[in-house]
Amino acid sequence: MLTVRTGKDCLLVAVNAKDEALLRYNGDHLDVKAFKLVLTRKSVMIEMRPIPITCACCSISRAVKPTPKGEPRTPTGWKKLVDAAYCPECWRKQYILRAITMPVASPLDCSWDELRKALRTMWAQTTAASNWMMTELFARDVRKGSEEKMPPMARVYLYPEARARFPGLPSQTVSSLEQSVQRKYRAVRYAVVWTAAASLPTHRYPTPFPVPKQAWAATIEAEQAIVSMRIGDARHRLRLKRGPQFRRQMAAFRQIAQGEAIAGELAIYDHDGVLVKMAAWLPREEEKEARADVLTVRTGKDCLLVAVNTKDEELWRYNGDHVRRWAGEHRTQLQRWNEDQKYEQQPVPAFARRRETAVRKFRDRMNSATHEIAAQLAGYASRRHFAQVRYDDSDHSYMGDGFPWYRLRSLIADKLVARGIVLETSAQPEQERVGPLAED
Ligand SMILES: [Zn+2]
Repeated sequence: MLTVRTGKDCLLVAVNAKDEALLRYNGDHLDVKAFKLVLTRKSVMIEMRPIPITCACCSISRAVKPTPKGEPRTPTGWKKLVDAAYCPECWRKQYILRAITMPVASPLDCSWDELRKALRTMWAQTTAASNWMMTELFARDVRKGSEEKMPPMARVYLYPEARARFPGLPSQTVSSLEQSVQRKYRAVRYAVVWTAAASLPTHRYPTPFPVPKQAWAATIEAEQAIVSMRIGDARHRLRLKRGPQFRRQMAAFRQIAQGEAIAGELAIYDHDGVLVKMAAWLPREEEKEARADVLTVRTGKDCLLVAVNTKDEELWRYNGDHVRRWAGEHRTQLQRWNEDQKYEQQPVPAFARRRETAVRKFRDRMNSATHEIAAQLAGYASRRHFAQVRYDDSDHSYMGDGFPWYRLRSLIADKLVARGIVLETSAQPEQERVGPLAED
C-alpha cells in the first residue's frame, strides 16, 4: 500500500511508511477537474497494482505501473505508436532513428526580423536555463567524503523553479531541457564530483532551442515542407528550403508529415542561417528489402539480359531486339561481301571502302549500345539498393557469338563499382573470340 497525498508544488506525491517519496505526479498540464475527488481530501490510500503491457509485434508481456489514467506506463526503450506498444527489439527491427537537418527558407506569418528577434530570446533563455540547471544539479549533488563509492544521485526536480526563472520558454521546452541537462550531468557527474578530472559542462549562446515531439507539427503544403511550433508567446510556421540537395531530407520529412515516421524532438539552430534539426524514427522497410539481397543477371534465350531475385522472379529485362537485328544484318552483309570477294579477281575489292565504313558504323553502334545497357542495369541495381550483382553471360544463344560480351561485362563492372555495388561473375571471363561482330 502507498500513501498518496496532494503536494504544494505537485498534484500528487506517493510516499512509503517512512514518508520517503516514491512517486510523484506533477500534473502541470492536467485538467484539474479529473482529480477533484482526490483533491477534496487531505490524503487517500490507493493500491498500485502492476498491469501488463504487451508488444503488438512479438506478444512479449511486461508488468508495469499504471499511469494516473490507469493505462500501462511505457517502460524504457518501449515505444507507443497510436494504440500499439512495441518492445525495444521489435521497434528497432522496424524503425531507425535519424536526424534530419534542413535550413529555414522563410517564416510564413511574420518577417525575418520578427522571427530572428523571437529566436534570439529563445536561444538566450535556452542557454541561460541550461547553465542554471547544470549549476543547480552540481550544487545539490553530494561532495566526495570518506565513502569508497560515489552514492547514486538523488532525484532532483528543477522544473517549477526553472519555469519561474525563465518564463519566456514554453513549458514543454523547459521539461525537455531538464531531461537533456540531467542526462548530460549524469554522464559527467563522476568526473566532476568524484575525481575532479573534469569541470562542469557549460552551454554557450546560441544553445539550440528544443521543441519536444508533441509540441511541433510537420505538414506539406503545395509541395513545400512546413514546420509549426511555439516560439516565445506566438505560434510560428516556418517554410523549409527545398531543392535537389535536400532530396533525402524531403523524403524523410514526407514520411513524418504522412505519419509513416514517428517524429522526435525538433531543435532550432543558429548556424549560417536558421536550421531545424528533426529527430525521427523512420521505417526500415526499404533498407531491409535492399542490402541483404543479391540481384542475379543472366543472358536469356529470348532476350539479351534478364535480372531475377532470389526466388527467380523476373525484376528487370533488356530485350535488345534492335541490337540483335543490327548484329544479324551486319553478319549477313559481311557474309555476302565475303562471298563476292571470292569471285572478284582484284586484291582490293570494289566494295572495300563500303565494307570498312559498315564495320566502323557497327562498332560505334555496339559501343553505345553496350554503354547504354550497362548504365541501365547499374541504374536499376542502384535504385533498388542491391548490394551485389551476380552476372552470368554463358548463354550466347540470343545474340550469337561475336557480340562484344566481354566489353559488356567490363562496362557493367565499371558502372556497378562506381555505385558501390559488388559484381560477381559466375562464368569465367573466357578469351573472347574475335569474330566479325566484335570490336577491334
Ligand atoms: Zn516485441
